[in-house]
Amino acid sequence: MKNMNDIKQIVRQQVSSERFKYKLIIYSITMVHIVLFLLFGVLRIWPMVVFNIGSIVVYIKCINIIQRGYDHEMIKVFYMTYWEIIIHSFVATVCVGWRFGFPQYIIGLIPFGYYMCATLLEEKKRYIIATALGLIAALSFIACRCLSMLVSPIFQLELSILAELLIYIFNSICNFVFLFMVTVIFVWDMQRITLQLRSQNVALDNMASVDPLTGLYNRRSMQDFFDQILSTEEDFSLIMCDIDNFKRVNDTYGHDFGDVVLKEIAHIARQQVGDKGYVCRWGGEEILILSKDRLDHTCTTAENIRHDVEEHVFCCRGKELHCTLTLGVARHSVGAVIEDTIKHADSRLYYGKQNGKNRVVTPFNSQ
Ligand code: GH3
Ligand code: MG
Ligand code: MG
Repeated sequence: MKNMNDIKQIVRQQVSSERFKYKLIIYSITMVHIVLFLLFGVLRIWPMVVFNIGSIVVYIKCINIIQRGYDHEMIKVFYMTYWEIIIHSFVATVCVGWRFGFPQYIIGLIPFGYYMCATLLEEKKRYIIATALGLIAALSFIACRCLSMLVSPIFQLELSILAELLIYIFNSICNFVFLFMVTVIFVWDMQRITLQLRSQNVALDNMASVDPLTGLYNRRSMQDFFDQILSTEEDFSLIMCDIDNFKRVNDTYGHDFGDVVLKEIAHIARQQVGDKGYVCRWGGEEILILSKDRLDHTCTTAENIRHDVEEHVFCCRGKELHCTLTLGVARHSVGAVIEDTIKHADSRLYYGKQNGKNRVVTPFNSQ
C-alpha cells in the first residue's frame, strides 16, 4: 500500500514533467473540438463538421506523439496545433462569419507559442520563431476580421440572440481558460526553476566555504568570519591546533587512516566549540578556532578538546590508534592586527610542541 506521501510525490513528479503539461493542453483543445464538432453538427454546417473531425484526428496523433515522449517530436505537436487553430478560424469565419467569435482562439496562440518555443527550441532560434509565429497569428486575426467584412458567410444562420451570445461566450470562455492555463504553467515553471537555482546556489555556497574532507569551514570562510568579527569591535580568542606526530600516523597506518583521524578530531573540535565560535581547517592538519567566548572559557574548551582527543580511540579497518593534539590560545583585543594574533596562537602552539606536545598553551601558562 502506498502512503499519502508516496502518492503526493508521484503526483508532483507527474505534474512537473513536461509531458503532463503538453498532455493537459492538448487534451483541453481536443475536448473543445469535440464540443465544436457537435455544435456544428446540430447547426448542420457540414464543412465545419468535417474540419473538426480532421482536427480531432490531428490531436489524437498529437497525444500519440506526447505519449511516445520523444522530445524532438514535441515541437511538431505545437506546429500542428498552431496551424490547426489558424486554419480553423479562417474556415469558421468563411462559413459563419465573425459574430460567433471563433477567431478568438488565435489570441491564445501568442503566449502559447512563446512558451512552447522557449521550452522546446534552442536558444538562438526560439525568440525569432516565436515572434514570427506571433506576428502571423496577429495578422491572421486581423485578416479574419477583414475577410468577414468583405465576404458574406456561406451559411446564413437564423439563430436567436441568446443562442448567438451563448456560442460567443463559449468561445470566449474556452479562449480565456486556455490563456490562464498557459500563464499558470509558465509561472509554475518559473517558480520550479527559481527553487532549483536557489538550492543549487546553497549547495555551491556550501562547497565554496566548507572543506570536503572534514566538513569544517575552509580558510576563505575564516577570513570572512574575521572580517565580520573585526567590524563588531569585540574581543575574541583564537585556538590553533596541530595533530602530534601526524606524519608517523600516515606512514605507519596509511593516508586513509590519517584522513579518519583528521575527520574525527574535526568532529570533536566542532562539538566542543558548538555555537560559541567557528572551527576551520587552516592547513593540512592544522585547525584554527575562532572563539567568541571569554578567554578563560576558551582555554577550558581548548583543554576539553585536548582531553577528548587523547581519550578517543581511532579505528580504521580493524586497527586502533591513540592520537594527541597540541593547542595554542591567543586573545585578540580591539585594535590589534589579526595576523599578529594568529602568530601569537601559532607561537604558543610551537612552544607546546617543543615542550612535550599533547598540551594547551594559553596566555595564563606561558610568558
Ligand atoms: P608535529 O607533532 O610536530 O606536528 O609532527 P607532524 O608529524 O604532525 O608534522 P607536521 O605537522 O609537519 O606533519 C603534517 C603531516 O600531515 C604531513 C602530511 O602528510 C599530513 N597531512 C596533511 N594534510 C593531510 C590530509 O588531508 N590527510 C592526511 N592523511 N594527512 C595529511
Ligand atoms: Mg602541522
Ligand atoms: Mg602535526
